[in-house]
Amino acid sequence: MACSSVARMKLRFFVYPSMPGGTDQTLRPFLWRAANLYPDTEIVSRTHQGIDRYTYADYDDRTAQLANALDEHGIVEGDRVATFCWNHHRHFETYFAVPTIGAQLHTINPLLPDEHIQYIVDNAEDQLIFVDPSLEPKLASAAADAPEFEGVDFVIMGDAEGEHLDATPYESFIDGQPTDYDWPVLDEDQPAGMCYTSGTTGNPKGVEYTHKMLWSHTMATLTPQGIPMDDDDVVMPVVPMFHVNAWGMPFTATAGGAKHVYPGPSPDPADIAGLIEDEGVTITAGVPTVWLGLMDYMEDHDVDLSTLDRVIVGGSAAPEAMIRWFDDHDVELLHAWGMTEMSPIGSVAHLKHDIAGADYDTQIDHRSKQGLMVPGLEFRVIDDDGEEVAWNGEDFGELWVRGPWVTTEYFMRPEATEEDFEDGWLKTGDVVTVDEEGYIKIVDREKDVIKSGGEWISSVELENAIMAHDDVAEAAVVGVPHEKWQERPVAFVVPGEGADEDALREGIMDMLREDYPKWWLPDSIEYIDEIPKTATGKFSKKDIRDEYSDQSLVEGSVPEEAAPESDD
Ligand code: AMP
Repeated sequence: MACSSVARMKLRFFVYPSMPGGTDQTLRPFLWRAANLYPDTEIVSRTHQGIDRYTYADYDDRTAQLANALDEHGIVEGDRVATFCWNHHRHFETYFAVPTIGAQLHTINPLLPDEHIQYIVDNAEDQLIFVDPSLEPKLASAAADAPEFEGVDFVIMGDAEGEHLDATPYESFIDGQPTDYDWPVLDEDQPAGMCYTSGTTGNPKGVEYTHKMLWSHTMATLTPQGIPMDDDDVVMPVVPMFHVNAWGMPFTATAGGAKHVYPGPSPDPADIAGLIEDEGVTITAGVPTVWLGLMDYMEDHDVDLSTLDRVIVGGSAAPEAMIRWFDDHDVELLHAWGMTEMSPIGSVAHLKHDIAGADYDTQIDHRSKQGLMVPGLEFRVIDDDGEEVAWNGEDFGELWVRGPWVTTEYFMRPEATEEDFEDGWLKTGDVVTVDEEGYIKIVDREKDVIKSGGEWISSVELENAIMAHDDVAEAAVVGVPHEKWQERPVAFVVPGEGADEDALREGIMDMLREDYPKWWLPDSIEYIDEIPKTATGKFSKKDIRDEYSDQSLVEGSVPEEAAPESDD
C-alpha cells in the first residue's frame, strides 16, 4: 500500500544520535509506532464543513510539516505554544508536533472568563496560539487591548484568514513544508504539555507535564486496570482536548494503534450518536452531563450502540442509574477519577476478580465508587489529626497521592505549591473513604469550588463580585445538586438596609454578566437574614447547604446557552 511504504521509508530519516542506555521516556516513539505499524488506520474529525478523514501515515506527514513550520516561525526548544481549540485532527497534530520538537503545548480552556485567559497567556508566556474559527471571537475579546497578548502570534485552524485576529490560516502555515523532520533526542524531564486548573480563589494554577509524566501516564492507562486501547479500538474522546489532554486519550490511543474519532466543535447528543454509529466507536469518554444528554436523546431516537464496548465517565461522580442504564444497553460504564495535577488518571472502578462474581448490586456498589488506584500510583487518606484512616468504608479524610505522572508543584506559584503538596504528595482536596478492598469513594470536597458540567466555577470569586455591590451586606455562593450539570451555583445574599430586592437581583446579575461567562451566573439569588458562620467567623457553606439549598432552586433554570460546552 502506498501509504505504508511512504511511512516506512521515513524510517531512514529517523536518526537518533547514540545515547548510552537508549532513549529517554518521551512521546515520539508512540507516534513512530503508530505511523509505521498502523499507517492505514484512520483519524476522523467532525468539523463545521463535515467529516475529515485521513490515516496515521498522513498524520505523521502533517505533524512533520507542522514541526517544520514551527521551526520556520522561530519556535525553539522550551517555547510555549498554545491551543484554543475543540477536538479535531489539527488540534491532535499539535499534540505530537509541539512536544516532539522540544517545545511545550499549552492547551487553553476557552470557557474561562477573559481575565483568566489573559492571566494564563501571560503566565505561560505563550508565543503562538492556534485558535478555532468558532472560538476566534472569544479569543479576540480576551486579547483586545490586553498587554498580556503583546507579541503573541495567531494561527487559525482551517484554510481561511482570521476575521477578528491577525491570524495565518493553518493550512497555509504548514503548506509546502517537508513531510520529514529530524526529530531531536529529548530529555524525559523536558516539559511537553501544560494545563491550568482553577483554584478556590485567585488565578488558575499551571501544571506542567514532562515527557516522562505523559509517557508513564500513557503506559499505565494502557494496562488492563487503566483505560486500555487496542489496535482494533475506535476511540472517541468527547472530553475536551483542553482538559488535561482529553484525559490522555489521544496519546493512549496512538500508543495502542487505535482509530481516533474527534467530535469537533460543541457536539450535541445527535452528533455523538451519529459518530458512534457511523464510525463504529468502541470506546468513548466524557463527563456525566454528556451521557445524560445522550440518554435523554435516546428516549426519542433509535441509536445503535452495538459497537460501543465502554464509556469512560469521570470529572464528576457517575450516577449509579447511569451505570445501570448503560448495562441495560450492553455497554460498560467505567467510572474514573483524576485531576489536572495527575495528567489526569488516578483511579478506575474496575471490578476485582472476586467482586466480579458477586451479586449485581454489590458490583454496582463498587463500580459507582471512584475505584482502585491504577498501577504506578500510591495513595493515603489523612484525617484531621494527621493520621491515616482505616480502610473500612466509613472513616474519611483527605486523599493524598503520588506517582510518576503526578506533579509536585504549580508553575511559578510557590504559595499554592506550599498549600497543596507535602513531602512529594499531592493533597487532592477530595475527602474520601476507602473500603476493605481499597476502593476509594469521594464523600466531600475541601475546596470551595463548584463543578458544573465538568467545568469549575469559583464560588469565592462570585461571592466577592456580589459583595462589591453597594446594596449587598453579605453573600455566599454554594453549589446545589443539579440533575444535568451535577452542580449549579446559587447565591445567598443578605441585602443592605432599605435595598429594593427586585432591583438588587437585577443589579447583581448585570454586574456579574460584565465579567463572567453565562454559565458562571448563579441560577438563583436567594435573600436570607444572615449567613451562618463557623466558630472562627467564616461563612459556613455546609450549614447553608444543609439549611437552605434545595434542588428546586436550580431545577430547569439553566438556559441551554449557558451550558459550559457552549460554543460561544
Ligand atoms: P480537574 O482538575 O478539573 O480534572 O478536577 C479534578 C477534580 O474533579 C477532582 O479533585 C474531584 O474533585 C473531581 N472529580 C474528578 N473525577 C471525579 C469523579 N469520578 N467523581 C467525583 N469527582 C470527580
